[in-house]
Amino acid sequence: MSSYVTEQRKRILEILKNSSERLFTVEELAEMLSCEGISLSTVYRTINRLYSKGLVRRTAIDGSRKFAYQYIDDEHCTEHLHLSCTQCGKIFHLENDISSNLIKQIQQKNNFLIDNSKTLLRGICDRCK
Ligand SMILES: [Zn+2]
Ligand SMILES: [Zn+2]
Repeated sequence: MSSYVTEQRKRILEILKNSSERLFTVEELAEMLSCEGISLSTVYRTINRLYSKGLVRRTAIDGSRKFAYQYIDDEHCTEHLHLSCTQCGKIFHLENDISSNLIKQIQQKNNFLIDNSKTLLRGICDRCK
């Protein structure tokens, strides 16, 4: 991999990391990076790679076939579920004990294993209600 590609990837991760409570669409990222000569297709490619490596999580945007991406900001984030506000796009960390109870119950009753890193519970946050 060329250092050019590495550099672009680093920039995209940096933006996501600096606003780790926020979700970004590929278009938003591309707009922020356009002055640095990073194209939309590059952002697409890079973000897909980051997603497949488990460095970002994504969520489908209501009423479109697009995704929004968010940085997984700490290792503990694999231990709980996240709540996503459909109004402001903010992500909230669900308490570990509530998360693990929920996951355990679903696993026991439905025999369904939830993937924490890919699951977002969607709704409206306290501030947007
Ligand atoms: Zn978290
Ligand atoms: Zn909100």
